[in-house]
Amino acid sequence: MNEQYPSVLLEKAVSEFAKLPGIGRKTAMRLVLHLLRQEREAVEAFAGAVVTLKHEAKFCKVCHNISDTETCRICSNPQRDASTVCVVENIRDVMAVEATQQYRGLYHVLGGVISPIDGIGPGDLQIESLVERVKAGGINEVILALSTTMEGDTTNFYIYRKLEPLGVKLSVIARGIAVGDELEYADEVTLGRSIVNRTPFTGSL
Ligand SMILES: [Zn+2]
Repeated sequence: MNEQYPSVLLEKAVSEFAKLPGIGRKTAMRLVLHLLRQEREAVEAFAGAVVTLKHEAKFCKVCHNISDTETCRICSNPQRDASTVCVVENIRDVMAVEATQQYRGLYHVLGGVISPIDGIGPGDLQIESLVERVKAGGINEVILALSTTMEGDTTNFYIYRKLEPLGVKLSVIARGIAVGDELEYADEVTLGRSIVNRTPFTGSL
């Protein structure tokens, strides 16, 4: 036990919080002390939400977005335009695009981008299932909305090579965003505009 901590329970709790991304030990300590001051019910609700999320959350079998049901709310909404699919890296990107209220199509969540340096290849991402979706028919346009990093460009190009022979229209979101910015950090207005002003993807890097 670290002598700095008056209690092993406290130290354990701080260690767990400190494992979260962006949370250092100081912040972890602040959060733990905050929870300790709360009513028992509030803390149980907090812990319960985390455990229930892990036990019950599913990933949509169509788009791989997080979902409470087999098919997510977006995919199963008949008001959405099922002929357009927006390809994003992660679930936060879906939320960012939804927040713009400029997009009525469906999504495809890749789960990342191709990054040889991190050991992430096409097989680690939901690319094959995207190809299968397009092959199944009914999709007229695939919008590439990945980050403007080298990895994002590489992934765009890989997808282009896979989808181009299938005759689907491929477009890429317009870039009001500085190169290297990740999609989730773009403000809603800029992101909304870049979706509306998307351009055909020609495969030129
Ligand atoms: Zn879905």
